Amino acid sequence: MKKIIEDEKRIDDEDKLNRIRCRNCTACCKYINVPIDAPQDEDDADYLLWCLLHKNVHIWIGKNKRWFIKFMTPCKPLKKGACGRYKTRPMICREYLHEECEKLDLTKDEMHSFHNQDELLSYLKKKKVPFFGFYD
Ligand code: SF4
Ligand code: SF4
Repeated sequence: MKKIIEDEKRIDDEDKLNRIRCRNCTACCKYINVPIDAPQDEDDADYLLWCLLHKNVHIWIGKNKRWFIKFMTPCKPLKKGACGRYKTRPMICREYLHEECEKLDLTKDEMHSFHNQDELLSYLKKKKVPFFGFYD
């Protein structure tokens, strides 16, 4: 019982500390990252090139070689620099570790990032991923 009470107190303290650290930041509440497969053929490449025609969409490859698509779009409950549903926020928000915090560098995990078709095309050409000739 004593241990449960201690654990609860520790979580409560961490929560308070996180609230102080996060005040007026909210950087990690303004986008979503979705893991995707690395493009293997021209259909995959064409799909990713199409995604990059849309505003506020980036694609990036992590240092672990995993591919992600990033949508720069703020979370709806975000109000005046704070979470508007803090007590009922999703687990993904609760489990986000401060050691992984991106406050100082939003691209710290990115090995390559592509913000437009040209950037991705040049990477695909280098890696010899096939794609349709009309991108030449
Ligand atoms: S980026 Fe870091 S400091 Fe900013 S809100 Fe997220 S966890 Fe808090
Ligand atoms: S639910 Fe709250 S903590 Fe989670 S991303 Fe949205 S604003 Fe941020």
